[in-house]
Amino acid sequence: MAGLLSNFTFSTLTLNDLVQIDAGRMDRAAYLIPTLDKVYHIVRKETIWDKVKKFFQRGNTSINMYYTVFAYNVSSPSGGVYRVLIEIQPNFNRAAFFDNVARVYCNCADFKFRYAWELNKRKNLFRNSRISQELGIALQQEPTAKTKNSSGGSHMCKHVYAAVKHLADNYDQIIASI
Ligand SMILES: [Zn+2]
Repeated sequence: MAGLLSNFTFSTLTLNDLVQIDAGRMDRAAYLIPTLDKVYHIVRKETIWDKVKKFFQRGNTSINMYYTVFAYNVSSPSGGVYRVLIEIQPNFNRAAFFDNVARVYCNCADFKFRYAWELNKRKNLFRNSRISQELGIALQQEPTAKTKNSSGGSHMCKHVYAAVKHLADNYDQIIASI
């Protein structure tokens, strides 16, 4: 029973896929105010063969991959402020911005209970030990059919959407300033 969905292959999504959210969430995102708070870099040793081949480092099984994390505070009209994290491998090509594979996170309940589980399966969830702890059971338990239906067919909440839009609209300036 529990294994049914886990047998599917969950493909990793690009920003282009991620921003295809439902009309309701998209409308509500227009009332949010995203503020870029911090930008930081992460280096991970990865053992992905196609990447190793791409860089002609045969014989090595790992390579340092560099990622950039954009940390946003997203304010809602009701006064709530949500923390959004967007991790990409910046290619410095404005035209290809939405081709980036991204890992995202928001600390709202919509993200936690409707999207975190699937994004984690797709390797599109930004997580560290603190986030894993915060998400807790939401990472282990697949959302119910009812919860899934209320996701609007989206892959993420309106807060992440608003932050991604802000990043896309200001990409040149932001990249130039880091
Ligand atoms: Zn959210």
